[in-house]
Amino acid sequence: MDFRSDTVTKPTQAMRTAMADAIVGDDVYGDDPTVNDLEQWAAQRHGFEAALFTTSGTQANLLGLMAHCQRGDEYLCGQQAHNYRYEAGGAAVLGSIQPQPIENNPDGTLDFDKLKAAIKPDDSHFARTRLLSLENTINGKVLPLDYLAQARQFVDTHGLQLHLDGARVYNAAVALNVDVIEIAKHFDSMTVCLSKGLSAPIGSLLLGDKAFIDRARRIRKMLGGGMRQAGILAAAGKLALTEQVAQLSVDHANAKTLAEGLSQIDGFHVNAEFVQTNIVFVKVDDDIDTQQLASKLAQDGITITPGNPLRFVTHKDVDANAITTLLAKINEFVA
Ligand SMILES: *Cc1c(COP(=O)(O)O)cnc(C)c1O
Repeated sequence: MDFRSDTVTKPTQAMRTAMADAIVGDDVYGDDPTVNDLEQWAAQRHGFEAALFTTSGTQANLLGLMAHCQRGDEYLCGQQAHNYRYEAGGAAVLGSIQPQPIENNPDGTLDFDKLKAAIKPDDSHFARTRLLSLENTINGKVLPLDYLAQARQFVDTHGLQLHLDGARVYNAAVALNVDVIEIAKHFDSMTVCLSKGLSAPIGSLLLGDKAFIDRARRIRKMLGGGMRQAGILAAAGKLALTEQVAQLSVDHANAKTLAEGLSQIDGFHVNAEFVQTNIVFVKVDDDIDTQQLASKLAQDGITITPGNPLRFVTHKDVDANAITTLLAKINEFVA
């Protein structure tokens, strides 16, 4: 029972079968029918002209940033943004693109007044502000649809492009009970992770217009991400989108149950009402040693990441029974 992340999900049996049977070709030549099918299908499904299958979400974000921005350009993003904080500075290192982070509001949004103040004037002292990059979900929180509409208006007013790190965009769509298009339609480009809660073994998608995806494809090759018989992976990736989305509402319900259970344990502080998707953050009192808790749980076959706040992530490989077991074991530890 692994609660560290939804990245730990194993491919489904249907995925393994589809991978074994996938018709493949050399994708660098554009010859892999299964990759081509996934890219064409995904573009249409999300309302974009084109799509690119990538090795990871980090690569998809980097390609997106590099395809939008030139050397000496900058992108606006959140302090907590994955593509600022957790991607080894790739945009700066490999793209010569300067990040301009803004403090995230508690709900994950970015304040438009602060964003506006961060846009650089057209002057040789400054980097050229080109792009606003948002993330949805961000730390398990869903950006409201009207906020996305305002973001679109903001970038149009200021002549910027709008990118979404949509690693968990399906969690957002499921939580809002809307089609993913209702989120995607506001953005010039978007990423989708196939290998988190959606359970494909490997891969993400980058979506955008045709010229943008053509630029991204060239950069992907440059970065060593041109894959050959990648249809083996794309076959699983398509099933992630066609068969696994429904699982996310189960994951969200399990996260809610977990949060409710944890909130009743002495020294554990979480408001279950604020848990919107599959990620639960819990503050614990200082006298609770989370390292010790993690070691104790490990003896029972339960894996968590120690820390304060503790972060638990639900996914298809931890069912309702696993939640019950986890809560019982934590109660035992605290007692
Ligand atoms: C996981 C994640 C990524 C990166 O995906 P990898 O496939 O792990 O490289 C990007 N953005 C967000 C919000 C993520 O959660």
